[in-house]
Amino acid sequence: MTEPLLDVRDLSVDYLTEAGDVHVLSGVSFAVAEREFVGIVGESGCGKSTLLFAVAQLLSPPGEIVSGEVVFRGGDMVGLRGGELRHMRWRDYSMVMQSAMNALNPMNSIGAQFADAMEAHGERSRERIRARSREVLELVGIDAVHLGSYPHQLSGGMRQRAMIAMALLFTPQLVIMDEPTSALDVVAQQSLMTKIRELQRRLGFAVLFVTHDMSVVSRYSDRVIVMYAGQIAEAAATETIFERPLHPYTRGLMNAFPSVRGPRREMAGIPGAPPDLAHPPGGCRFHPRCPEVMDICPTREPALYERDGARVRCLLYEERAAVGARAEAPRSGAAQADAAQADAAQADVTVDAAVDAAQADAAQEARP
Ligand code: SF4
Repeated sequence: MTEPLLDVRDLSVDYLTEAGDVHVLSGVSFAVAEREFVGIVGESGCGKSTLLFAVAQLLSPPGEIVSGEVVFRGGDMVGLRGGELRHMRWRDYSMVMQSAMNALNPMNSIGAQFADAMEAHGERSRERIRARSREVLELVGIDAVHLGSYPHQLSGGMRQRAMIAMALLFTPQLVIMDEPTSALDVVAQQSLMTKIRELQRRLGFAVLFVTHDMSVVSRYSDRVIVMYAGQIAEAAATETIFERPLHPYTRGLMNAFPSVRGPRREMAGIPGAPPDLAHPPGGCRFHPRCPEVMDICPTREPALYERDGARVRCLLYEERAAVGARAEAPRSGAAQADAAQADAAQADVTVDAAVDAAQADAAQEARP
């Protein structure tokens, strides 16, 4: 079997705060193949952006990888030092941040920033730097004259494209994207996503992409990972997950965004709010909000079960499923938590319940 390009194994990340450790990611395992486009979805606070930063080795205190591996091209990146990582960044993998306005340096022209990145990797020829900068900017559909522009002189869509151009300077094998379209209007969003997909197919890089927008993943991803409360709730090929969502949380996300082609139906959010990850509910973390909750759910933590080509973390599938070889190990403390702890955690939620409604609105606005 071919080795995956990226293999994340049992990755756990804590935020170490004075009030206690917050378990933002708990035993996350997944792989990305070469040339694959993988979308990660979930509500705000589910850990999806932290996951990207952990994969890119960009976490800073109080965030810390407490266990697990991030194997990229056969080597574990966890524990690599600054110099070793600097050598790999941009060249082997690159990252496109959520807001290009914050990621680009407002004091330097786009061309100067491209040149910085290339010089940091040993390119000294002004001619080659200029030629490559023109090439990648034109690749994303921006006239090379804008190499002389400053970030504030470009529109939001152009800034995001410039960030993507920068990420492609060395044609890396993996491009990690943290909600690159969230600040854009619907037209710019669709145009950018189409461009990303076209470049990905043409140049052959893999994409690991975070969004809260189900319509974006349904249209562009090969595979979808649904995150809930710092864990993978479900993962499957895009078609599989949209045709037969297995996890009650995935079904809830589906019901929160409209279909332009399907029959008219009432939109329904997911009741409640994501849990406080300093005190996650015992048993299944979704049980306080689950419409299909069973007596056993508050006390027994589900593993990831394989079912019909999907991996799903739900006890509804426990009997029928064979646990995958890469299934995540439950946190022992959480597994022993009782129903009383779960109730306390439910009362302890910190994320605004309005997230559900906002997501439904955002999805509606962004429909293709
Ligand atoms: Fe719902 Fe129970 Fe499945 Fe959790 S394990 S998603 S509470 S049915």
